[in-house]
Amino acid sequence: MRPTRDVFPSSPLGTVLLGTYPVSRSGAERETTDPIGAALRDPRVRVLPLRDGSMPVRAAEGSARLAWRGSEELTGEDPARRGEQELAHLGTSSDGAPVVLDFRPETLPEQMEAGDPWPGDRPECADETWEGLREVAPRLDAEEATWATIAVALATWHAEGPHCPSCGSATRIAHGGWARVCQAEDREIFPRTDPAIIAAVVHTDDAGVERLLLGHSTRWPEGRFSTFAGFVEAGESLEAAAAREIWEESGVEVDRVEYRGSQPWPFPRSLMLGFRARAVEREAARPDGQEIAHVRWFTREELESEVLAGRLILPGAVSIAHHLIADWYGGPLPEPEPEGGRSF
Ligand SMILES: [Zn+2]
Repeated sequence: MRPTRDVFPSSPLGTVLLGTYPVSRSGAERETTDPIGAALRDPRVRVLPLRDGSMPVRAAEGSARLAWRGSEELTGEDPARRGEQELAHLGTSSDGAPVVLDFRPETLPEQMEAGDPWPGDRPECADETWEGLREVAPRLDAEEATWATIAVALATWHAEGPHCPSCGSATRIAHGGWARVCQAEDREIFPRTDPAIIAAVVHTDDAGVERLLLGHSTRWPEGRFSTFAGFVEAGESLEAAAAREIWEESGVEVDRVEYRGSQPWPFPRSLMLGFRARAVEREAARPDGQEIAHVRWFTREELESEVLAGRLILPGAVSIAHHLIADWYGGPLPEPEPEGGRSF
């Protein structure tokens, strides 16, 4: 069933860009005998080609739209070679069209070996560009950003899963593209998601002044700071993972962690679980020197003045880190003044 739009599920973070739109996934259709064939026979079908993580988009007045295809490019080919196994029925768009992902590999025919799936093309149209999810998502509307996120997550999983993790045999696509089946054991294998925590660490001093702790990664350009993040380890709760990652990266102990919202991050298969964590002592902060080169506390006024002066670069709106910082800041984050400071 399609979710009702007036019961849109929200978290304290509000609408995070990727994956929050309640699209109608193909939960029921994918269990039918030929979900992809049925979707392709519907004249309204929208097919999204994905090649090496990129998708075709068209510019539209400061924003962008996905350049959906019809089914002609798929059904016009010899069905035995059209690569129908490299397709997934993602669901139904808000206006009732079936949504299909075409994730055929981008391989030149002369590089193919017997048994390889038929490759997909990547036509360059004058009014289209091919862009990755991170680049295009901020310009897509919430529904298209969500379809694109599902597409990247699923295609990445398929690309990494041609063999059974148990016995190493070849697997085939099943359930409308939402699972694979081991050919030897008939075992079903479903997409995995790796949970990762991301936390805004905050402190309130005796005078009532609130500060946010941000870290600068050793891999980042000067001035870029963000919240702390890391993968949840085996047998670990989210709260323990948040406390451990914050302590490892910043030296700060936290005595309270509060869930604020989540975001899929399919690079390649993370689910970012966002928290606000309360620091016990501000003075303990120090970088780990490995992943984090600098840590710094910011009051709201310092955060704003450093951004406006071009000395502080905050994460972009595509990431949940941006929303966690804005959640603490209490509104939209400041942006550097165009005429002053550096351009990023
Ligand atoms: Zn197997």
